[in-house]
Amino acid sequence: MDDEQPPLAKTGVAQTSASHPAPPAPPATAVPRAPEPSAGPSADGASAPVEPLLAFHDVDTFYGQIQVLKEVNYTVYPGEIVALLGSNGAGKSTTMKTILGLVRPRRGTVTFEGRRIDNQSTPDIVKAGIAPVPEGRRVFSRLTVEDNLRMGAYLRSDNKGIAADMENVFELFPRLKERRSQVGGTLSGGEQQMLAIGRALMAKPRLLIMDEPSMGLSPIFVERVFDTIQTINRQGTTIFMVEQNAFMALSIANRGYVLRTGQVVLEGTAKELLESDQVRREYLGG
Ligand code: ATP
Repeated sequence: MDDEQPPLAKTGVAQTSASHPAPPAPPATAVPRAPEPSAGPSADGASAPVEPLLAFHDVDTFYGQIQVLKEVNYTVYPGEIVALLGSNGAGKSTTMKTILGLVRPRRGTVTFEGRRIDNQSTPDIVKAGIAPVPEGRRVFSRLTVEDNLRMGAYLRSDNKGIAADMENVFELFPRLKERRSQVGGTLSGGEQQMLAIGRALMAKPRLLIMDEPSMGLSPIFVERVFDTIQTINRQGTTIFMVEQNAFMALSIANRGYVLRTGQVVLEGTAKELLESDQVRREYLGG
């Protein structure tokens, strides 16, 4: 399916890197944006369409009179890692808040598995299968690691499944297992980020939305967290991630979008974005 991808306007690159996990994703759209495909091809390249897991259709959001998102379209297909890049104030966190129903679009729609969620409550959106890892990794500082993880599963009642998922989180993050009785507030920044990701996973989401997972972490922790994000994705969770560290994000993502002052100005495969002059200039330091 890579052969069908139109080249990114400035780079002429059309191929998806072999080092990236092959997504059951649609062709990347060229820049300026082509119309959104109604559905992507199936994972085996056959003609049966794959429906988007998450889709924004011409979304406008405002804070009072100030418009933040302007006719924004995103599509995230099952199995993908999609990165959302953009400079400060571009509207990345607002995108995440819009998905969670914390900010309502004034125009346009947000759908999850084909159903509108922009008119639903945040608990219903979470129940539908979306779990956030918020910016600044807000963990419950007085609860232990284990209790923080249990909080992530508060909508579930399958105790065996919860126990198995907790073991999986401890396998992903052995450091958390060692510290399972320690209270969240005394963990290091990197450990708190692991705990925030682990807690989101305990909800058994189909879509994990992550706001700046690398923020404030030392390079070694950043690498560890991004490795784990890839593992989580391979285990079957789709990921939509806001990230300032464009290189790290694109090195694990299938596709990405670049947001500037509330508008999508660039989109393509991760490889296309890594090779784009604009992304190199604005996000990769040359
Ligand atoms: P950063 O990378 O700096 O976190 P961002 O891309 O996540 O930026 P947003 O937090 O989405 O950006 O903010 C987009 C714009 O909306 C900014 O100009 C911000 O000042 C404004 N904004 C965000 N939240 C509110 C709010 N509650 N009320 C008014 N304006 C807001």
